[in-house]
Amino acid sequence: MNVRSNVLNMAGNCEKLLPVSEKLASIGVDPCTGMSIIGHCAAARILHSLGIEVAQNRLLAAAITEPQGGSDLRGVRTVFAGGEDWRVTGAKVFATNALYADSIIVYGLLNGEAALAYVEPGSVGVRIEPMELTVYKCSGIASIAFDSAPASPIDKPGRRIYRSVLQGLAENRVLVAALAVGLGRTILDRAVEWAIERGVAKYQAVTHRIARAHALLEAAAAMVSKTAETIDREGLSDWTLTSIAKYTATEAAVEAARAARRTLGGHTYSRVGEEIVSLQHHIHALEPAEGTQDIQLEIIARTILQKKRA
Ligand SMILES: Cc1cc2nc3c(=O)[nH]c(=O)nc-3n(C[C@H](O)[C@H](O)[C@H](O)COP(=O)(O)OP(=O)(O)OC[C@H]3O[C@@H](n4cnc5c(N)ncnc54)[C@H](O)[C@@H]3O)c2cc1C
Repeated sequence: MNVRSNVLNMAGNCEKLLPVSEKLASIGVDPCTGMSIIGHCAAARILHSLGIEVAQNRLLAAAITEPQGGSDLRGVRTVFAGGEDWRVTGAKVFATNALYADSIIVYGLLNGEAALAYVEPGSVGVRIEPMELTVYKCSGIASIAFDSAPASPIDKPGRRIYRSVLQGLAENRVLVAALAVGLGRTILDRAVEWAIERGVAKYQAVTHRIARAHALLEAAAAMVSKTAETIDREGLSDWTLTSIAKYTATEAAVEAARAARRTLGGHTYSRVGEEIVSLQHHIHALEPAEGTQDIQLEIIARTILQKKRA
């Protein structure tokens, strides 16, 4: 089975986050498939938040981030023009799945208002090129240039679109958190195997390092499950939930990677350590995905202050 059909199999239309997050959080999760599921579900959750049904068998990509910076949604320069049928001009980067998606949802501005449209990958005026990344190489991550390309409006431009994009991305953060847990558990599992095989599991310095990372990861995993369950049951009423899940899970996975690297010692950098180094790169690349760790702290901090001032 290729990555594409694997993704559709595992994610479906992303309506329920808990079952998807459980798959992503398991030991042995494939990073590429995991990131493709996240990319697909990002687009699907945005459509869900607009009340739009998502087809089961169409792989989606969300093209939001632009070359000049992805943290500020209000700073996008991609523009739509037209009446009933639109045209889009601009540039996007880091669009996961874009290389093999059936449909790309593109965020931009129409007469200064937030706008969202479907763009078909093979259309005239659409140039999709693979990004030269060192991680998630088979997740179809691409840069896209639109030159007056045809686009089909998804909904009326305006504030509702802006909020739905923010909400879809906020909800989807729980899946990034789940992948962080899955990759963290995997790297720690490999470290335990090595510690036993190498005979260094007798040292408390080694086992406590692993235990500490394990404890942090499992605490983050509980936060991921609670968040996914809450969103599935009642929607996202508290936006800090997914920020806390994404922040803690990514930090815990980074800690697990550090523990694994130290457990392997110098062998991290030999052939036996190749998987550890690769997993570590994939874990680190989750820091910016779906909003950087700084942005998560900003969301959490603002909410703390708002509550105190209210
Ligand atoms: C593996 C992967 C997959 C991705 N998939 C997609 C996808 O499918 N679709 C898509 O559209 N994008 C995708 N992205 C892009 C991702 O959303 C952006 O990388 C992210 O939003 C950050 O944008 P940037 O990289 O341009 O960083 P920048 O915005 O340039 O930020 C650079 C630094 O400045 C800090 N910073 C910037 N603004 C602020 C602020 N206001 N407050 C505090 N700190 C700030 C950031 O935290 C960061 O440390 C993906 C990225 C990765 C790594």
